[in-house]
Amino acid sequence: MNTVSNPNHYDVIVLGGGAAGLMCAITAGSRGRHVLVLESANKIGKKILMSGGGRCNFTNLHTEPSRYISANPHFCKSALSRYTQWDFIALVNKHRIAYHEKDPQVGNGQLFCDDSSKDILAMLEAECFAAGVTINVESAISDVQRIEDHNSVRFQVRSNGSRFTSESLVLATGGLSIPKMGATDFGYQLARQFQLNVLATHAGLVPFTFTGSIHELTKKLSGISLPAILQNSRASFREAILFTHRGLSGPAALQLSSYWQPGESISLNLLPDDHAETMLLQSKQTQPKVVLRTVLNEVLPRALVLELQNSYWPAFTDTKLAEIPDSRLKAIASVLNCWTLKPAATEGYRTAEVTLGGIDTNELSSRTMEAKTIPGLYCIGEVVDVTGHLGGFNFQWAWASANAAGQVA
Ligand SMILES: Cc1cc2nc3c(=O)[nH]c(=O)nc-3n(C[C@H](O)[C@H](O)[C@H](O)COP(=O)(O)OP(=O)(O)OC[C@H]3O[C@@H](n4cnc5c(N)ncnc54)[C@H](O)[C@@H]3O)c2cc1C
Repeated sequence: MNTVSNPNHYDVIVLGGGAAGLMCAITAGSRGRHVLVLESANKIGKKILMSGGGRCNFTNLHTEPSRYISANPHFCKSALSRYTQWDFIALVNKHRIAYHEKDPQVGNGQLFCDDSSKDILAMLEAECFAAGVTINVESAISDVQRIEDHNSVRFQVRSNGSRFTSESLVLATGGLSIPKMGATDFGYQLARQFQLNVLATHAGLVPFTFTGSIHELTKKLSGISLPAILQNSRASFREAILFTHRGLSGPAALQLSSYWQPGESISLNLLPDDHAETMLLQSKQTQPKVVLRTVLNEVLPRALVLELQNSYWPAFTDTKLAEIPDSRLKAIASVLNCWTLKPAATEGYRTAEVTLGGIDTNELSSRTMEAKTIPGLYCIGEVVDVTGHLGGFNFQWAWASANAAGQVA
């Protein structure tokens, strides 16, 4: 408990009132700790509100360490195992928030609010209130110091002309995605100020962009979505793709973007359930008088068939299958099952859902998220080098890492 009479002294100061910061404040506050959350924006939890298309995909039934990307893939295990998706679901149930699994027949485990993301934020606010947490919004932080004198160690945070002090400081300021919503590199700068290593960051869960003829093609197909497999040498995702005015989006593209390096090609399988070569050669036997376009229109959107045809096999526009040499059918099949595309870039932090990289997990205890070299300093959520796949995994990391820190901060 707070033993210092100074009203600006807290047991725990949390920098950032997002998913991780609020959950950490709740956990620490519920232990009787006197907690202050300092949030720079005009309201807390803005990303929660915009998440999941306004319905917050708040966790995933299949949360497990393999769904996270980090330079140290083992780091997330401890926190995820001690605060699981079931713990968060219990909290959601306690607040009687209605939710559902998206596409249960697909079984991807994504849980969304039936109504609105506002329900999740209201739940966190109510829990903060019950735990006696103080939340200051519009708190511009001008300086953070760790002060050690002969009988005490404390953190000092200057914000809006006030000076706050605490025993523990939790860094929960998130990543760089969506700068329009106030994302900055504050967390990384502060980590560096405390001599913590910060790994290179890049945008993840973000659409690909293209130039030249492929860009022209995606523009024409903009709005068309279909199930596909999108992969590179490191990862493969079987989910929907969506052609856009700038390139390629949809869950499969967003997922693969987290594994993509600039300059690399990606491979798109437009017929994930069919071996296109077998299908075309068999069709040639069974329906020799049918034109290629008609066969392809049965398995792919017409507009896509038209654009592929214009780009890759213009000579066979209205050719009967019997008149197309097997070698050409095999080449066409390889475009359908293994279309090699070279993205120019991604849309970057402007539209990215997450930031990959960040505070090096080697600097932190995987049990408590406390910095090994700076006792009392905790780093949680997206600012740390742990990034989830699409589907509620990022919030689950925010809840779990926050809980780990909140249990001890
Ligand atoms: C459009 C979009 C949709 C998403 N949908 C989902 C989804 O459905 N499911 C899912 O799992 N994940 C989703 N994510 C990812 C998820 O939102 C993040 O992983 C998660 O919010 C990270 O939590 P955090 O608390 O670490 O960071 P944030 O939620 O970003 O919170 C950080 C907070 O710190 C504040 N802050 C920043 N700098 C300072 C400073 N200097 N001083 C004080 N405060 C500061 C910010 O204003 C913010 O409130 C989505 C992301 C986006 C952008």
